[in-house]
Amino acid sequence: MLQINVDLCKGCSYCVKFCPKKILELGKERNKHGHFYAVLTAPETCISCGMCATICPEGAIEIKKEEE
Ligand code: SF4
Ligand code: SF4
Repeated sequence: MLQINVDLCKGCSYCVKFCPKKILELGKERNKHGHFYAVLTAPETCISCGMCATICPEGAIEIKKEEE
């Protein structure tokens, strides 16, 4: 499961460009710093590859292991 800490996001859109599934987008709402932040548009399509978490310069994305 992907977790985006929206208040850390600077809206650079690196994750949007590098997601192999093209399921990240910059949303229409601003975070508390005034940046349009990344949102996951189709969580069910995410393959948890970790590319977005790796590429994010702000460390705003975390991949959490599913716990049953
Ligand atoms: S983990 Fe991979 S597939 Fe999922 S949103 Fe990030 S880059 Fe895209
Ligand atoms: S790479 Fe990080 S800072 Fe840049 S848009 Fe994505 S979540 Fe935000």
